[in-house]
Amino acid sequence: MLKVATYCRVSTSSEDQLNSFERQMQMYNEEILLHDDWELYNSYYDKGLSGTEVMNRPGFLEMKEAGLNREYDILITREVSRLSRNIQHFYEFVRPLVKKNIQIFFLDDEVDSNMPDFETRVASLISHAQDESRKTSQRVKRGQKIAMQSGSVFGNSLLGYDLRDTKLYINQKGAEIVRKIFDMYVNRDMGIRQIKKALERENIRTMKNNISWSIKSIYSVLRNEKYCGDLVQQKTCTPDYLTHEKKKNSGMRIAIKNHHEPIISREMWNEAQKRLNSKSPSSTDCISNRYVMSGKIKCSECGKSFVSRSRKNRDGTVTKTWRCSAANTDGAKKANGIGCDNGKQIRDDVAMDMLYQSLGTLKLDNEYIIQNLLYIIRKSLKGSIDHDHKNIACYENELNKLTQKQLRILDMDLSGDYPKDMIAKKLSDIKMDISDVERKIYELKKCDDLACNYDEFEKDIAEYIKNLLCFKNAPDEYLRSLLKKITVYPDRTAKLELGNINKTWEFIL
Ligand SMILES: [Zn+2]
Repeated sequence: MLKVATYCRVSTSSEDQLNSFERQMQMYNEEILLHDDWELYNSYYDKGLSGTEVMNRPGFLEMKEAGLNREYDILITREVSRLSRNIQHFYEFVRPLVKKNIQIFFLDDEVDSNMPDFETRVASLISHAQDESRKTSQRVKRGQKIAMQSGSVFGNSLLGYDLRDTKLYINQKGAEIVRKIFDMYVNRDMGIRQIKKALERENIRTMKNNISWSIKSIYSVLRNEKYCGDLVQQKTCTPDYLTHEKKKNSGMRIAIKNHHEPIISREMWNEAQKRLNSKSPSSTDCISNRYVMSGKIKCSECGKSFVSRSRKNRDGTVTKTWRCSAANTDGAKKANGIGCDNGKQIRDDVAMDMLYQSLGTLKLDNEYIIQNLLYIIRKSLKGSIDHDHKNIACYENELNKLTQKQLRILDMDLSGDYPKDMIAKKLSDIKMDISDVERKIYELKKCDDLACNYDEFEKDIAEYIKNLLCFKNAPDEYLRSLLKKITVYPDRTAKLELGNINKTWEFIL
């Protein structure tokens, strides 16, 4: 007797009678009865409809394993496409079994592994199945797209919005946090890192009820267009119908303006995007270092950093003022230790002026720095002048040789002993060499003139360095690196410390 294994995929949908386990087993049993020498060895099956996710099919893997151990002689199943929709995978499965002399029957396709053109038939059946799978996949996507265009929302709830039946509803508690984040970023000039600290200090929990906020999550809140009422969908889709892997889809995006009730105003959202865009994409980590003074002004009372607030004046100019972040957020100190009594504020231009003044007192050293730099410049220039001189002598020597050679050729020509065309060729070659060397000498001499005039523009160089050293035009990052901190006291005094210099400057505000 030949041992027969059966394999079927069982539909999870109860109405799908044709694909029920009983229906399929009945079909297999009828087939077995048709052969006198067949007997049922085992029935393998997997649940679920999709034929594409092969790796999640324990029944399939068990059936394959048993076949490789030659536990059965014959395998019957219904369709090629139920085993695999990928030709590569199919061969990997079928060929080892056929090698073990197992005969495979596909009842619905009327194909069996004893047929001489078995693999060709299978290939054509699979490519047909792939077509069907692609069509289904496209149908599903088209349906989703239509639903999206009509404004249905797919995905999960987010901070500030609950998603129910593909519609967004404002979640008041979350919306309050969203407004707070935008307010801190846009109105209070706080960096993302400072916002994170503020949220954690106030014990505000994340969506997942965590006490700690990530920089990334705050960043994505500020970037999410849903908060100003817009909807942009289909950021990811499933273009690969074989692996069902989600891939980033940048091409197909559906945007609907004013799709749902906003949490924050469009102006505020736009302002946040403007600020986020003005930073390099990788700078979210140091996002609080937006100004020279960011994080550098400290409160003498609570030790917290000062935060800035910009106010537009009547004449259109903007005044930026710094104040203690604890006093700013929580007001005067309360019984539970929250807040700060230091109400002293300091204008940004005043703080910058303090920095310039402090740096200005270092002027005594400037002369020394300038002299040192000039010495280095002169020395390196002199080096290149010497080098050029050497080269000019070299080329002049070569020019001399070439001219003499040219004369010898002219002598040969006059003697009349040599063919005219040979002389002409030699003359044209040497002319080219001569003009080449002459050009090199000319260029070197030009550089030489420039270097000889160095004494004249040394004054300009000194002036330029001096300008740099008085810091007025220095880049912000450079100024930041020089400043250690400014401590502001409630009694209208401030102490400024420069980095690496053990000296403090005191100011009265
Ligand atoms: Zn304070």
